[in-house]
Amino acid sequence: MDSEELRRVVDGRWADVRAEVRRQVPPEWSLPVGDLDRDSHRAVVLERARALAAGGLPSRGFETAYGGQDDIGGSLTFFEMLGLVDLNLMVKAGVQWGLFGGALQALGTERHHRRYLAPMMSLELPGCFAMTETGHGSDVQSLRTTATYDAATQEFVVHTPDDEARKDYIGNAARDGRVAVVFAQLVTHGEQHGVHALVVPLRDESGRLCPGVRIEDCGHKGGLNGVDNGRIWFDSVRVPREALLDRYGSVAPDGTYSSPIESGSARFFTMLGALVRGRVSVGGAAAGSAKAALAIAVTYAGTRTQFAPPGSSDEVTVLDYLAHQRKLLPRLATTYALHFAQAELTCDLHDVQTGGTDDDARQRELESRAAGLKAVSTWHATSTIQTCREACGGAGFLSANRLTQLKADSDVFTTFEGDNTVLLQLVAKSMLTSYRDHFGELDTRGTVRFLADQVVETVLERTSARGIVDRLAGVAPGRDDVATPLDRDWQVSLFSWREEHVVAGLARRLRRAGRDGDAVDAFEAVNRAQEHMLRAATAHVHRLVLEAFVAAVADCRDLATAALLGRVCDLYALSEVESDRGWFLEHGRLTPATSKAVTRAVDDLCRELRPHAAALVDGLGIPREWLAAEMTAGTERRA
Ligand SMILES: Cc1cc2nc3c(=O)[nH]c(=O)nc-3n(C[C@H](O)[C@H](O)[C@H](O)COP(=O)(O)OP(=O)(O)OC[C@H]3O[C@@H](n4cnc5c(N)ncnc54)[C@H](O)[C@@H]3O)c2cc1C
Repeated sequence: MDSEELRRVVDGRWADVRAEVRRQVPPEWSLPVGDLDRDSHRAVVLERARALAAGGLPSRGFETAYGGQDDIGGSLTFFEMLGLVDLNLMVKAGVQWGLFGGALQALGTERHHRRYLAPMMSLELPGCFAMTETGHGSDVQSLRTTATYDAATQEFVVHTPDDEARKDYIGNAARDGRVAVVFAQLVTHGEQHGVHALVVPLRDESGRLCPGVRIEDCGHKGGLNGVDNGRIWFDSVRVPREALLDRYGSVAPDGTYSSPIESGSARFFTMLGALVRGRVSVGGAAAGSAKAALAIAVTYAGTRTQFAPPGSSDEVTVLDYLAHQRKLLPRLATTYALHFAQAELTCDLHDVQTGGTDDDARQRELESRAAGLKAVSTWHATSTIQTCREACGGAGFLSANRLTQLKADSDVFTTFEGDNTVLLQLVAKSMLTSYRDHFGELDTRGTVRFLADQVVETVLERTSARGIVDRLAGVAPGRDDVATPLDRDWQVSLFSWREEHVVAGLARRLRRAGRDGDAVDAFEAVNRAQEHMLRAATAHVHRLVLEAFVAAVADCRDLATAALLGRVCDLYALSEVESDRGWFLEHGRLTPATSKAVTRAVDDLCRELRPHAAALVDGLGIPREWLAAEMTAGTERRA
């Protein structure tokens, strides 16, 4: 195996950014914070963010005209790399340059870019992204902060009507933020135009709160205590008309509202879609935290010994136990798989957003893919870090070994930038219809009817007409025994079949509900199909992930490296099939014999890959000094 070739394939298109982050980030940044108090922790994180700003990496994703590099893929790779080092820093950076900067860039127009982008990039102007309210998190359309236009003074009056409408959990608010991009219901001439974003000052240069602004610290959190999350109330705070980020909706001096997108709902979804990069960054950083945890746990497992076989005084290295390999190696394989899917998403997003053409359909597909991958990657990170902690025994529980902090800091990644369950429902909806703009306009009842009328027919035609029926016939129990689990085509067809079967079933189910018309409580119909929707979305994401992995293997120029990576791909595919074998068996897609063969193949692959475990960890490209776990310090990675 050629380790340089493996690194080339893993580092991918933005290898230069990865190298630059490795060069700029000192090893001590990944050290556990230990007993550092909250204020000191926040100060350390801010200082690190300033060092990053000075190094220039955060500006990569912004316009060259204002000092950036128009390099969206580079900027996403930068955030992903921070996930390997310090999640507090990643989140602080994500708030400043991902959410706050991203909103200015995507929702603002030239005058905002001219005024804010340079100080935002340099961190002279620390800012917040104030969307969530105490009463409404996932349901952003129902936010209740108002921005009411006063034509007499040409100002907006930003107001928090009650405590449920206070902004909550807002990063950078409790200590450092000087301004916030605030999401509020826009009102002109007494008419509501939906959620829009405005730049609202929070503090003056000396850090004093602006008149009418009240901020409270969110207090101690279950992790990420180096980030200053806070709650914000606005008491009729006046900002000039120009404070409105008006790319998708503007207000004339006399209060007349206009927008390039007529439908309010379509406008709302377009605005949220423009913020897709934040979600991609969170998914990438979560995968990064899983990589760091696995690197620590696999390295430790390669040196830790327990029990000697009868007649021998040589204790067994724990990674030689199959049960231990089973814990770590399928997760390592899935981490590789998610890495390649993330890299593909990053490339596609970069190409679409820098391509100069407005390809709506592609942009929507990317939003859906970003949502699905974010959900799968963050759940994978949470469960993997817990497994790695257990895989290191008592040592894993000591703070000095970093895993407990990784666990605490990565936990909430499943919730912010979109709650995973809510995101997967969006993915399922977008699978059922490629007309998301229309879809966005429909309430639940309308959604069911719409599905019944048009889209479902297309889905059913595509999936069941020839495909599923034929393939079902071809794989009736007893017929799949010809397949060997290591056949890549068989693996891919299994993933595709699962996706199509689940989506077709979901479409049929919603069509039935829609046909029943008024008699059916449409909301209840969709509600009852929720588990089905989540399964459809998850199956869809895993199919995309497998395809990305297959493409990465094909990209290897060195045969031995391709063979090794191919085995890792097998392990990802088969451990996924194994974990869902109940469903495959229920649906007649696996015979009991093949199901057992899959389990045997996973065992065999674990044994086969065990000698390569250290090389595979090295292939992830984490500098050894970044692992910063006491228990692995000074250990050699043993193959
Ligand atoms: C540390 C931290 C930092 C944050 N930083 C920011 C920030 O900088 N700016 C910002 O604007 N926000 C921020 N947030 C807020 C974050 O984005 C929200 O917490 C998130 O969107 C979820 O909203 P919620 O907390 O109201 O949960 P809810 O939406 O109330 O969800 C609660 C539960 O209900 C479930 N649920 C909700 N709707 C449905 C449904 N339709 N079907 C099935 N289940 C459903 C969810 O799956 C979840 O399990 C942050 C949060 C945290 C914890």
